[in-house]
Order: sequence, then C-alpha cells, then structure tokens
Amino acid sequence: MNTTTQPAPSWMRLSCRIWGHVVDNHVFRSTRGDRRRCRCGVDYLLKTGETTHVRHTLSCFLRHHTYVRLTDRDGVHEYVCVRCGHPLAYPAAADPFANASLFAKKVRYACGLLGHRVTAIANRHGFVEYACHCGHSFLKHAADKRKIRHPLICFLTAHRIRFVEERAGYAEYVCEDCGHPFCFVADERVAERPSIGRTPACAGPSEPSTRTPGTASAASSA
Ligand SMILES: [Zn+2]
Ligand SMILES: [Zn+2]
Ligand SMILES: [Zn+2]
Ligand SMILES: [Zn+2]
Repeated sequence: MNTTTQPAPSWMRLSCRIWGHVVDNHVFRSTRGDRRRCRCGVDYLLKTGETTHVRHTLSCFLRHHTYVRLTDRDGVHEYVCVRCGHPLAYPAAADPFANASLFAKKVRYACGLLGHRVTAIANRHGFVEYACHCGHSFLKHAADKRKIRHPLICFLTAHRIRFVEERAGYAEYVCEDCGHPFCFVADERVAERPSIGRTPACAGPSEPSTRTPGTASAASSA
C-alpha cells in the first residue's frame, strides 16, 4: 500500500463524520479490488460485521434514481441505482420496467411521507424481505409487516449499514435502523453495465419523469 498519500483535507473528514461517507457505484465500478476506501481516507463497507455510516445521495433524492437490472431471483426482478446503490424490486409479473435496460425513476415522496405498503417477497439471511408497489424493498427481522416508514434518524442523518451478502457482482448492505438495503458494485466484471444509448423507459404512471440517463450522468458529474 502507498503510505505516502496526502491525508484528506480536514473539512472532508469532518463532513464524512457528520453526514456519513460518500458512496457511488460509478466510483466502485472503476476501482478494482475488494477493499473500499472513502475519499476521506477511511476504509469502509467492510464485510466483517462492522457498520458504515453512509450519507444520502442528494442528487438521487431530489431528481431521480437511475436503475439497471441487478438480477432475477425469488420471482422478483431486482434493479439497482447506478449511483447511490438503491435497489428496486418488483414481482416478475408486475414489473413496469421489465423491458427497460436503463431507466430513471423519481423517489415516491408519498410513500416517504405516509409509509410504504409492503408485502413479503422472500426470506433470506434471517430477514424477511418486503417490497412496496413503488418497488422499494426492505429487509426486516419481523414477519407480518404491512407498512414500513422511514424513521426520522435515517431521514436526518442517513443510514448505518452492515454487510448482508454478495450476489450478481454486487455486495448488499442493510441499514440497522430502518432495513433499507443498498447494493454496491463488488465485481465489475459481473455487475450489469449501464447501457447508455438505449432508450430509457419512462417512470411509472404515478410519477412521470422526463429525464433521461444522459442528463442523469451530466448531473452526477456536475
Ligand atoms: Zn468518508
Ligand atoms: Zn440513486
Ligand atoms: Zn413505496
Ligand atoms: Zn436507515
């Protein structure tokens, strides 16, 4: 390892300590190796049980997520945001994006305010996995959940996440407080590539989006 690297500026370290570390699948896709290091210099997203405090990706929250297919499993189609790692899961028969290779989808603010109305879609790693009709999934220990809200602590200070498993070239983590999963590129040779240039699908009927992945990548690099 190179030990002569300059330490990150103190504002960067302070920012990560307050808001959480920065995660970006674009970055993870272009960095080889199992080890993940935040721009502040901290090794994070370990797979040995420690939690990592990750910050909200505001560009995704305020504009939209951009999804590619992660995998098909348990009778669901699973997608993942090419930036923040937010997954999306639909029962295969009710997937509005089944024919899209890359699509933009706005956050469903109504679910964020009122709670997600969920149904169980799988049991894995000691969790019950739930999904809302909006596609948001959660990993919870409790069975028989009908509604899942985002707790205030996660809304205000974002998520503290712990490794769950690897699948389809991604490492999955879950927030200890709210059960929100995140999937980050672990093996760029396996993980589905965003196929820029294909026609993106529109967002679902209740949340039209006119943005294209082209503007998404322009926004994320701004
Ligand atoms: Zn950091
Ligand atoms: Zn996102
Ligand atoms: Zn929802
Ligand atoms: Zn959380």
